[in-house]
Amino acid sequence: MTNDIRSMNEIPERLNSVRERIRAAAAASGRDPDQVTLLAVSKTRPVSDILAAHAAGQRRFGENYLQDALPKVRGLDGADIEWHFIGRLQSNKTAEVAHHFAWVHGLDRLKHAERLSTQRPAELPPLQVCIQVNMSGEASKGGVAPDELPGLALAVAALPRLRLRGLMTMPDPSSEPQVQREAFARLRGLLDGLRAQGLALDTLSMGMSGDMEAAIAEGATIVRIGTDIFGSRG
Ligand SMILES: *Cc1c(COP(=O)(O)O)cnc(C)c1O
Repeated sequence: MTNDIRSMNEIPERLNSVRERIRAAAAASGRDPDQVTLLAVSKTRPVSDILAAHAAGQRRFGENYLQDALPKVRGLDGADIEWHFIGRLQSNKTAEVAHHFAWVHGLDRLKHAERLSTQRPAELPPLQVCIQVNMSGEASKGGVAPDELPGLALAVAALPRLRLRGLMTMPDPSSEPQVQREAFARLRGLLDGLRAQGLALDTLSMGMSGDMEAAIAEGATIVRIGTDIFGSRG
């Protein structure tokens, strides 16, 4: 069980050790730890786990599965939480994402971006978005190919109700740590290339429980951590 008393007591400790790892990794590469934001990935976790992390000061949470996420987002309405949608978008689900989330990390199609921009409620601030880039070339993975990125980025940046913040990637989990680190470095290079084209971007969403240190060394500004905060997902 993930929502028993034992795991709830462990969450603050785990959270503190993740924060300490972020500080150490930033210091090791001469970066300011405040430039690295911790996103707690609460997919499949019960509200009680989210509340345990919230009580320990965590305010940003990431969810992948919309049907799993919506009851939690609605149930925690008013709790001062910034919700990030990190799963794969589907055209018929974009409206709910546009209504209930502050950020989207996995954008990879202009059609989805256009829908999100149209559907973003006028009373909310623009939806903050990252374009997901497929750095491994694996066809099964989400994300735009690097050579299609500039065209998509320019089109997304022009949409009125979205604010393009940067790039996101998920490394191929089967590849060697060195290969994963090279993918992070190449993503940073792609971000620099877009900035040189005049886009004001500040976000590299990369690094999960297993590769957070490498991602921070290569410039991650948001790390998405699930397992090392909430324990393994059964
Ligand atoms: C599940 C997930 C994470 C967190 O992975 P952990 O290995 O549990 O830290 C990060 N990003 C995305 C997109 C995910 O789906």
